[in-house]
Amino acid sequence: MVYLKGCPLSCAWCHNPEGLAPRPETACDGRKCIHCRRCVELCPNGCISPAGDTLVIDRSRCEGCLRCVENCPSGAMTGYGRTMTVEQTLEQILKDQAYFRATGGGVTVSGGECLLYPAFVAQLLRRCRELGVHTLVESAFHVPYSAIQTVAPYTDQFYVDIKHMDPQIHRQYTGQSNRRILENLEALSRDGGRILPRIPVIPGENDSRENLLATADFGRSLGAENIMLLKYNALASGKYRMLGKSFRDFSRDAVDIPTLCQTLNQALGKEGFFICT
Ligand code: SF4
Ligand code: SF4
Ligand code: SF4
Repeated sequence: MVYLKGCPLSCAWCHNPEGLAPRPETACDGRKCIHCRRCVELCPNGCISPAGDTLVIDRSRCEGCLRCVENCPSGAMTGYGRTMTVEQTLEQILKDQAYFRATGGGVTVSGGECLLYPAFVAQLLRRCRELGVHTLVESAFHVPYSAIQTVAPYTDQFYVDIKHMDPQIHRQYTGQSNRRILENLEALSRDGGRILPRIPVIPGENDSRENLLATADFGRSLGAENIMLLKYNALASGKYRMLGKSFRDFSRDAVDIPTLCQTLNQALGKEGFFICT
């Protein structure tokens, strides 16, 4: 997996808070910190200040040098993201080439929103294709269609998350309407892209039968063979804490995803249309 940082959406349930800012970031796990203050002294920009039992990081001044991470004696400091070229990224991917050959697996480029960087992704996937590595892009598609067109010639499959079919509710939860996302899906479908729509199922928020069946209708209009339901992931709470961000937990009424798939497929009269991992 290759994760590119930066995202134009702000989903209330985002499980990748470290993927939202378009730059390297550091985060501190206060439970591991032994208060040696080495990071405070080493930071060239004076971004880190002690505050009682914890540390405050002024990320607006952080240049991502990762000195604080590399010199932390307790492993409390973590770095999210680093600047890499296409060739450096490819070198990392190719370490798994034997595994790809044995399993038929390949590279997935995700985020954040990887299509904020279409030229980088296109170059990377073109090189992967040349080397016989399968290519998959995971995206929310809230990008100009030209970004999708740039990567499509080198992408074997797109996984695209549809968070809600109602534009107002979509805006309420993600900060943006779904109009551009749905239009991009329609355009890529017309242009022959291979798409697997996915729905991150958020208990009590987008899991109504009405919304899920409306998504199925839309998916079928695209010619999609399946829609994948994704289980809500509450494991991101630790990353929110380390990044000093507040976490909203949506796991109160857990949904059994295989049962939900079965119920929806019965309603559609189409076995195996909704699938889960
Ligand atoms: S990454 Fe560098 S600039 Fe950023 S907080 Fe750490 S030491 Fe300071
Ligand atoms: S270097 Fe590590 S252990 Fe020392 S104060 Fe910073 S985060 Fe805590
Ligand atoms: S699109 Fe993905 S990375 Fe971006 S905010 Fe939503 S869940 Fe997070």
